[in-house]
Amino acid sequence: MIKLDLKKIDMEYTFNACADGITDKKEQKRYNQSLPELINLADEYVDLGEQGLLYKIPALSKENSDKPVVGSIHSDELKELYNYYMVKRPVGRKAYDKIMATAQERCPFCGGIGNPRNLDHYLPKKHFPLFSITPHNLIPSCRDCNMDGKGTRYAKQLEKQIIHPYLDNFIFFNSQWVFAEYKEGQPGEINYYVSAPEQWGEHDKSRVEEHFRAFELARIYGRVASSHLGELLPQLNSMSEQFPDEPELIARILLKPVIESIEFKNHWKRVMYQAIIKNLQI
Ligand SMILES: [Zn+2]
Repeated sequence: MIKLDLKKIDMEYTFNACADGITDKKEQKRYNQSLPELINLADEYVDLGEQGLLYKIPALSKENSDKPVVGSIHSDELKELYNYYMVKRPVGRKAYDKIMATAQERCPFCGGIGNPRNLDHYLPKKHFPLFSITPHNLIPSCRDCNMDGKGTRYAKQLEKQIIHPYLDNFIFFNSQWVFAEYKEGQPGEINYYVSAPEQWGEHDKSRVEEHFRAFELARIYGRVASSHLGELLPQLNSMSEQFPDEPELIARILLKPVIESIEFKNHWKRVMYQAIIKNLQI
């Protein structure tokens, strides 16, 4: 739900960074022969991703797992390019770190609540080894959101696709689709929910629902909000005592400046403050 930009990091760059670690020159040449085809595949990936159609890429079937998947390269060798040459060798690791840096310490899946800890494969390499080191398939993600850690989830239908931080339509990043309700009490509760803009297509609406569900954002947002509520409530209460009949004033001084200072539309705090204002019934 936060947009990321890979800038100039492309397939050729990550491939060369990984292949640099292959010390046997003959072997390296064999890998290099697969580069043009890998570049074509990466371009197709970007094309489909920009149309929100990555679910159309077929997973590798089990029957073909012993045959080369690109040139003379097998799927295990592609996965090794990632697991060893990209993660553990110095030049490959530089490419890895460069992709990590695009997130600027904010996990794009949970809207920046977590700090990215590692790269995650949007299409899991177990089923999509051809995209093991495709930069657009490598997404910085926090410990909570890490899909690799959760198993090998991938969408088989359009509406089940989670939001792709590099490639998806700007509407997912620029529109508000997370909202919350504030339930007063001791200590009070902020309940988050999804409500996509009415004019959106049904598939897009389903996709944000799926994203919200898959990353358990109700729980994760709720957790940070309830801890913040503990700090905010004393201020809110003391202002309410001071200005009992002036909820507009409280909203203007205490709440609205916070909302206005947060650019990201679906940020947990921005949404939380909106919910509290709504509760003031101005
Ligand atoms: Zn996250």
